[in-house]
Amino acid sequence: MRKYSFFGLGAAVALSTISLTGCNKDQDNANQPAQLEQAQDAKAEEAYPGQSGAAKAGEWGGQPISYQEINGEKVYEGDILLTQEQVEASQGQDAGRPGSAGRTTGRWPSGVVYYTIDTALPNQARVTDAIAHWQANSPVRFVRRTTQTSYVTFRVGSGCSSNIGMIGSRQYINLASGCSTGNTIHEIGHALGLFHEQTRNDRDTYVNILTQNIQAGYEGNFTKYSGLGYGGTDYGVLDFGSIMMYGSFSFSSNGQPTITRKDGSTFNIQRTGLSAGDKSGIDAMY
Ligand SMILES: [Zn+2]
Repeated sequence: MRKYSFFGLGAAVALSTISLTGCNKDQDNANQPAQLEQAQDAKAEEAYPGQSGAAKAGEWGGQPISYQEINGEKVYEGDILLTQEQVEASQGQDAGRPGSAGRTTGRWPSGVVYYTIDTALPNQARVTDAIAHWQANSPVRFVRRTTQTSYVTFRVGSGCSSNIGMIGSRQYINLASGCSTGNTIHEIGHALGLFHEQTRNDRDTYVNILTQNIQAGYEGNFTKYSGLGYGGTDYGVLDFGSIMMYGSFSFSSNGQPTITRKDGSTFNIQRTGLSAGDKSGIDAMY
């Protein structure tokens, strides 16, 4: 209903998948190399890789939230950009309001996302391929912006980053040269309203978060969205194969896992395409 309702777009998507981890089958056979390989594969998206900014704290829904201020941007969970309005709301007097109030706000009306691509962005096929993938696998449609107020501009960034959901004006998906088509699909997921899968409310049923192995300053990337004041819905069950899920070694400080399955086993990050769970979540939202 108000600005904070941007947080109401939760969609940690669901369905457990087995097939998507299969692409790393070779690695599963060799213990040590698998660990190393996974560690390299486990690169999750970041807006400003290698940079950290002033840790900022606010309050939302009676809960503390934290983000980093880097290069004038308010960065949350590594690659999510918060607007000034969101931060102000999170620090403001409306903090006690249930996050679910704005569930429908921040969705793209009729599931249509208007967009532009900055002419300076190299390798624009990443964007057009990612859009084609979304259109082939969801009801969401992407239309070149003409005069619309709310739209996404894909542009060069220092990392990969996006807002969560439609913010009501021009918003950006920032893509460094290292951001792949898969990373772009992931960032579009954020723009549609998807959270990181490991921040689901019900994630403790499925995973262990090993805080002692997380890089200092990145603990917030593993906080449930409700704990950070977001309202949202967990669809189905936690999807290890989701394109929105971190890998076991994402943001590890020491080569040890930051997330494991409940039985202690590790899993790989998936940035190839939308999983069945991603699709069912988006279908439910749009
Ligand atoms: Zn992300």
